[in-house]
Amino acid sequence: MKTPNIILNWFFILAWVVIALLSQMDMMSGWWIGPLVILWLVVKVIGSFFIGLNFYFFSHCSAITNERIVALTFDDGPDDKLTRPLLDLLDEKGAKATFFVIGEKVLGYTHLLKEIHRRGHLIGNHSFSHARFFDFFNFTRMRFELVRTRELIYKNTGVKTQLFRPPYGVTNPVLGRAIHALQLVSIGWSVRSLDTTRSPKKALQRLIKKTHPGAIILLHDTTPDIVEITKKYLDWLTSNDYRVVSLDQLLTIKAYE
Ligand SMILES: [Zn+2]
Repeated sequence: MKTPNIILNWFFILAWVVIALLSQMDMMSGWWIGPLVILWLVVKVIGSFFIGLNFYFFSHCSAITNERIVALTFDDGPDDKLTRPLLDLLDEKGAKATFFVIGEKVLGYTHLLKEIHRRGHLIGNHSFSHARFFDFFNFTRMRFELVRTRELIYKNTGVKTQLFRPPYGVTNPVLGRAIHALQLVSIGWSVRSLDTTRSPKKALQRLIKKTHPGAIILLHDTTPDIVEITKKYLDWLTSNDYRVVSLDQLLTIKAYE
């Protein structure tokens, strides 16, 4: 598949060849290769940070629909204090969500993982360590992270999840290879609440402003006010004729093998 990254590489290789040839013929200064390399690197870094660009590999970030439906996703749990009250709220409101769990956290709270599954929510893989330098890991280490979490989920729930969300939403070619090798489905988002950095009020305002038909909403069940934010957001969705559906329904994909 021709990703924007491959197209970019071909474009810059061509530009380098042209500059090299023209400089050989004294028609252009070879100096231009320097700024070109810098520009090439800048575009690659931008491509890494914006999952919605699908720069290195494809990620589902929303569904194309006019129907007022959205899918909620919660990252970085399970959390000892917050996941269960959040599950209670979702039950109360009759909403199903997807939880992208970190393997290392699952180890301590397998009962919460089982509970997420038992209550009918989907479970996705969000790496084992969610390490700060995850994106600098080599293929073997990255693959190991994804396999380890997938197996933890399988051991505790009996489901083989195909859903994967890159830590920090950062992508690169090595991660693309690991996802491809394990046949995972990469999931991004179209509405980021910024609930981990903004006040509950600001996060809610942002959610309301950015919600659209077919949106995938990014939240975290590690944010101290997540229950309050989610409750108010669900109420707003209902009063604005939006329906919460699960991620596999929204995208018409299979969540589990
Ligand atoms: Zn995360």
